[in-house]
Amino acid sequence: MLKKPARIQAILDELYPTVDIPLAHQDPFTLLVAVLLSAQTTDKKVNEVTPALFARACTPEAMATLEEEEIRQLIRAIGLAPSKARNLKALSQLLVERHQGQVPRSFEDLEALPGVGHKTASVVMAQAFGEPAFPVDTHIHRLAQRWGLSSGKNVAETERDLKRHFPRRAWNKLHLQIITFGRQHCPALRHRPQECPICSWASSS
Ligand code: SF4
Repeated sequence: MLKKPARIQAILDELYPTVDIPLAHQDPFTLLVAVLLSAQTTDKKVNEVTPALFARACTPEAMATLEEEEIRQLIRAIGLAPSKARNLKALSQLLVERHQGQVPRSFEDLEALPGVGHKTASVVMAQAFGEPAFPVDTHIHRLAQRWGLSSGKNVAETERDLKRHFPRRAWNKLHLQIITFGRQHCPALRHRPQECPICSWASSS
């Protein structure tokens, strides 16, 4: 009999043998921009605004030369546009000044960029560079609690617990699989554990 984490992983592998990265991007820089834009909005909305933004500027050099106001206009359809525009410009300038226009491949350097927290850095490390990371958003946090994999009080503690439960080589894929699972199985107004392929047996509450 498989232990709970292995059983969950087996079900997720069966449900989602492959998972696409939901944010449209072309390279590490455009992924970084898309992840930064995705705070408190949906990936779908981000994918609606990025084509025009990237047509105007798809490199740190080009983004750094845009006026903040123009960036704000280009992304105005999503939430927090003023602060995101400010961060995008500042971040692009820093990439040019400190990193030769490249997105750095380290948590420390990524998290030193304006508007980039640990979760954003984790997504970039995992999805742009294939480095093992386990970005935990509120959906993953909630499901990890429900499945009895973590009793962490915050996303940092949940990340620590999930990393302990699952093999390192599986982290990047599991992160996308759990997000996909949550989007398909956790509608806002319905919560029926008995109908869910994992919550029906793994639920701890
Ligand atoms: S029971 Fe369904 S809605 Fe509730 S957490 Fe599980 S998957 Fe999500």
